[in-house]
Amino acid sequence: MAERPTKKSWAEPFKIKVVEPIKMTTRDYRLKCIEEAGYNTFLLKSEDVYIDLLTDSGTSAMSDHQWAGMMLGDEAYAGSRNFYHLEDVIRKYYGYKWIVPTHQGRAAEHIISQILIKDGDYIPGNMYFTTTRLHQELAGGNFVDVIIDEAHDPTNEHPFKADIDLQKLEDLIKKVGAEKVPYISMATAVNMAGGQPISLGNLKEVREMSHKYGIPIIHDATRVAENAYLIKEREPGYQDKTIAEIIREICDLTDGCTMSAKKDCLVNIGGFLAVNDEELYKKAQNMVVVYEGLHTYGGMAGRDMEAVARGLEESVEYEHIKARIGQVQYLGEKVLGWDIPIIVPIGTHGVFLDARRFLPHIDQDEFPAQTLAAQIFVESGVRSMERGNVSAGRDPRTGKNRRPALELVRLTVPRRVYTQAHMDVTAEAILEVFDNRDKVKGLKFTYEPEYLRFFQARFEPIT
Ligand SMILES: *Cc1c(COP(=O)(O)O)cnc(C)c1O
Repeated sequence: MAERPTKKSWAEPFKIKVVEPIKMTTRDYRLKCIEEAGYNTFLLKSEDVYIDLLTDSGTSAMSDHQWAGMMLGDEAYAGSRNFYHLEDVIRKYYGYKWIVPTHQGRAAEHIISQILIKDGDYIPGNMYFTTTRLHQELAGGNFVDVIIDEAHDPTNEHPFKADIDLQKLEDLIKKVGAEKVPYISMATAVNMAGGQPISLGNLKEVREMSHKYGIPIIHDATRVAENAYLIKEREPGYQDKTIAEIIREICDLTDGCTMSAKKDCLVNIGGFLAVNDEELYKKAQNMVVVYEGLHTYGGMAGRDMEAVARGLEESVEYEHIKARIGQVQYLGEKVLGWDIPIIVPIGTHGVFLDARRFLPHIDQDEFPAQTLAAQIFVESGVRSMERGNVSAGRDPRTGKNRRPALELVRLTVPRRVYTQAHMDVTAEAILEVFDNRDKVKGLKFTYEPEYLRFFQARFEPIT
């Protein structure tokens, strides 16, 4: 007789209404695919992928409630009722006063950067994000990383690795002068650190400094619900608060946000900029008509805005966010159990393999994370993403690869798309690559684009 379970099983808090078949392929076929894709998982065709953990951006499964909302799209050019619904929902849950819709997150980053940053300014932030930093740089700014040192150490178990180092922040402000710091760029559930949260305790202290020097805080709210969940789990005093209450407390400590609704808000496309300052809003509202569309749709269809509004409401539900992060933790704990090196604590939206320790024989300028992502695809059909030296790009002053401390492969879990069985298969695929890691060789560029090179770069193996 089988052993009786020692603990209760868990199951996804939804049932499946629509299914999408996925394709299993042979190793030879996948080898051909990755060669054609220049060893860049971004350049693979999705239909050749078995389990797609490239990103959780725009890959979520929408609920029946969201799909129903799509049918209620008001596709008027101006004044769509879905815009007003979205505005109400953002005001209710995030509390920001003025909303400018955009087609996705980077469009909001573009607008806020162009308005607030002057040539030669400095923008401190808790680790960079690719598009965020690029827009800050294109506006003439210099991004300065002021995250705590622990964030750069994949083995450090600090529960709030996205916290800002107040000393680093104040040193920068004193060095360059507050007038050269247009805003503090604060992200929740910091992607590049491995999906690590910022604590409310830290954010309150950052707020004090922001008031002291008269510098606003602009919040990258892309993953605010996921951050709120980990505050509830880990920060003393928040156990009895709802996710919605914690989100509101975070947002109330900041002056505005940029949002990629493609993550927490459970849609396939969408975003917005939200601010409290009316002057800033008017400038943003004027800019959005130049780059995105009228200020009541900003690059989204009416139906898209309805889906964002409904998705945002679903994102604050406890059972949803618990299951979402629980699935990621399940995958992480499984591979950690086999001593496969990953970032700890396990993050919110993905499991981040530490490619330096996974492939210690490959120099960082031979792109161990890029190599590992390609290898995982070849062995298993699982698609992941590089977050290391390729993503970090070159230093604009020296022209050298930035060689970031974190050299990672991100297995990003789309929301509500895969089951626990898919996580089991993924974990076993990683184990197989890990067992054969000595044979893996590094990569070199055959094509390197100027901006955000990780998206379109091509490579070949070093022989
Ligand atoms: C995805 C993302 C962005 C950019 O948003 P897009 O919708 O992809 O343009 C910005 N910040 C963070 C933290 C993100 O994860």
